[in-house]
Amino acid sequence: MNTNQLSERLSMVASFVPKDTVLADIGSDHAYLPCYLMNKGKIRRAIAGEVVKGPFEAASRNVALNGFTDRIEVRLANGLQAIEETDHVETVTIAGMGGTLITSILEAGKDRLTHVQRIIVQPNLHAIAIREWAVENEFCIVDEEILLEDSKIYEVLVLERGTAEYSKADLLVGPVLRHKRSNVFQAKWERELQEWQRVIKALEKAEQTEEIKQKRANVQENIELVRKVLAHEEE
Ligand code: SAM
Repeated sequence: MNTNQLSERLSMVASFVPKDTVLADIGSDHAYLPCYLMNKGKIRRAIAGEVVKGPFEAASRNVALNGFTDRIEVRLANGLQAIEETDHVETVTIAGMGGTLITSILEAGKDRLTHVQRIIVQPNLHAIAIREWAVENEFCIVDEEILLEDSKIYEVLVLERGTAEYSKADLLVGPVLRHKRSNVFQAKWERELQEWQRVIKALEKAEQTEEIKQKRANVQENIELVRKVLAHEEE
């Protein structure tokens, strides 16, 4: 990966960035995404936020090497603290982290989202946490993609301001992804079902405390939800 050639995962994130936007890429590591988008003439300005010094320095180096220091500002900051109201950021990207960490970044910095119209996230795991956060914070899910790269499955979620009602199954598998129903989607959830069956078997062998019983019920509920989705049964 470099500033001219992104991974398929980051290319998918880039494809959802609106033309001429002001971008904040949070957890920007080498600043690959903002540099790539600037090289393509797709964004006006960008902030690359990084909380760790090494990746922050790598990002600063790449921005300088590409001659973008006047249009991409690299900031050492925790999450959305990289953004000030006066930056007028319109689009936020957060990619390559767990869904729980992405959600905590959004929650901790939601007062910084004043001008933000679109949030594009790529959680490595646990996308449900972001979908739940979106509903609670009046964002809706306008698009989703799922892709396979290097034997790993990635989801990309696109949030915009608005309200929508989602079922439990929508939140778990994705309201857009379940309708697109790609082969990767099918494979992901078949794999999850197998894994959950293994978990149920292990839990059945454990001492049946209240906690274990609750865990079994939760896993069983997810199994039923996903089975119905894969069998095209409506809830
Ligand atoms: N976004 C790039 C991508 O998708 O390829 C880099 C992903 S890398 C696995 C995650 C990056 O997020 C790391 O550089 C890490 O230091 C940074 N990070 C983690 N928590 C963060 C936070 N709270 N604020 C800013 N950056 C964070």
